[in-house]
Amino acid sequence: MIKTFYTEQDVQDLVANNVSVLQVDQYTVLTMLAKETADKLGLQLIYDNPDTKTAPQPTPGFWPKHEARNGRSSPKSKLLQRRDKLLGEKSPIFYEQPVHLVRGEGVWLFDEDGKRYLDVYNNVPSVGHCHPHITAALTRQAQTLNTHTRYLHETIINYGERLTATLADSLSMAYFVCTGSEANELALRIARQYTGGMGIIGTNSTYHGNTAALFDLDTLFSAGVSMSPYIRTVPFPETYRPLRGLTGVALAEAYVVEVQGAIDAFATDGIKFAGLMVCPIFANEGLPNVPAGYWEKVANVVRNAGGLLIFDEVQSGFGRTGKVWAYVSTGIIPDIITMGKPMGNGYPLAGLISRKDIVTKFQDHAMYFNTFGGNPVACEVGMAVLDVLEQENLIENAARVGAYLANGLKKLQEKHDLIGDVRGKGLFFGLELVLDRNSKTPAPAETKRVVNLMKERGILINYIGAHDNILKMRPLLPFSIENADLLMSTLDEVLENI
Ligand code: PMP
Repeated sequence: MIKTFYTEQDVQDLVANNVSVLQVDQYTVLTMLAKETADKLGLQLIYDNPDTKTAPQPTPGFWPKHEARNGRSSPKSKLLQRRDKLLGEKSPIFYEQPVHLVRGEGVWLFDEDGKRYLDVYNNVPSVGHCHPHITAALTRQAQTLNTHTRYLHETIINYGERLTATLADSLSMAYFVCTGSEANELALRIARQYTGGMGIIGTNSTYHGNTAALFDLDTLFSAGVSMSPYIRTVPFPETYRPLRGLTGVALAEAYVVEVQGAIDAFATDGIKFAGLMVCPIFANEGLPNVPAGYWEKVANVVRNAGGLLIFDEVQSGFGRTGKVWAYVSTGIIPDIITMGKPMGNGYPLAGLISRKDIVTKFQDHAMYFNTFGGNPVACEVGMAVLDVLEQENLIENAARVGAYLANGLKKLQEKHDLIGDVRGKGLFFGLELVLDRNSKTPAPAETKRVVNLMKERGILINYIGAHDNILKMRPLLPFSIENADLLMSTLDEVLENI
């Protein structure tokens, strides 16, 4: 008799029906049915893979999703049940067996049982979890004064001057807000005000934030299309799955022709073009390699049509790519740059920096005030983040350890057929997993298994991409060579067992 099981209840029903042997794979044992639990129920487990001589380390209990929703009573499942009730069952949560984190320090996170995880995902606490220099600055200012930007205060000026000094001279005027979404929303308003147009172009697999206007650009969750007449989407540039199989200059040109086509389509519809909003490393698209020549050509096309070039550096900024800003590698200076996430290392701090002529024209027509943005505590925290980046040479570290990891991951690709492509920019990696290297058929199920097995082994990574098949790895900037070795040896081991 062959029976399948999905939940704890299914397994108990099987036991009640005198089933005593279950055929399982290692993944099931790691994520859903622990060997320990099977022993308790008197079940014998035989493994799918005959080469498996020993069972992997079991995870106690069943998959909490089932456990909680089936009314089990471990503290973790109770917490999950309360979360479901309050935030909704569909509120995003990572991992099939969610992690309950209680503490962070440097590149490490700790769960409620004291289990240690190497954080290879979070790009917000980029200079290290709970960095003492930053928590001290935060506490000091919170104990002194916290108001808003409508009073004179030195910190916002000192911070803003120091921040703009890291950018091209033309990018000299700043707005401070609390989230990347607010920064991008403001960028849309400024671009539309400045150009007098409404038409914005974005890519077909992106995310720029959670406001109503940005939602129209968030094609990652809408199969690449936007419902707004004011948004047009274009394929993001890439060399791994190149448009129409083109290569070299022809490929770059083909992607730029798409942008020109979107601009022309706006014109046909009587919509004036306002600008292109993109992340300079296309982080949410899966970190593609951009064909040479693309940036210069695309900037010309956008500017010739009177549009502004908006670079969303919410993910790519503050040293992530081994440079302070990712735009530097494009050779193009944007008209507007937005930033956030690592800017406050966890404190909600984000910003927009643009040219004087652009900001002045916007201010001639519109008032913008943000209650919390740029308050004294936020600016002290932002300043402390810049201190740590400098004092601990973290950008240089990102470049050095990033190069070491890129090299090692490419070696893993030689060993494991599942890895179709390895892409890296500083300490940011996208590993595209495919079932077959020729057809490049995405391997989303395997990708999820890798992510969950890595978590079981104490390493937090995740996945991204239109096909959910790109392993996304963003170590914290103080990542060491030793941390990198641990990441790679664990990944090697997991891929061996997939
Ligand atoms: N831009 C990019 C490129 C992002 O990845 C995100 C968030 N993932 C945002 C903007 C939105 O930032 P926030 O969540 O702080 O609003």
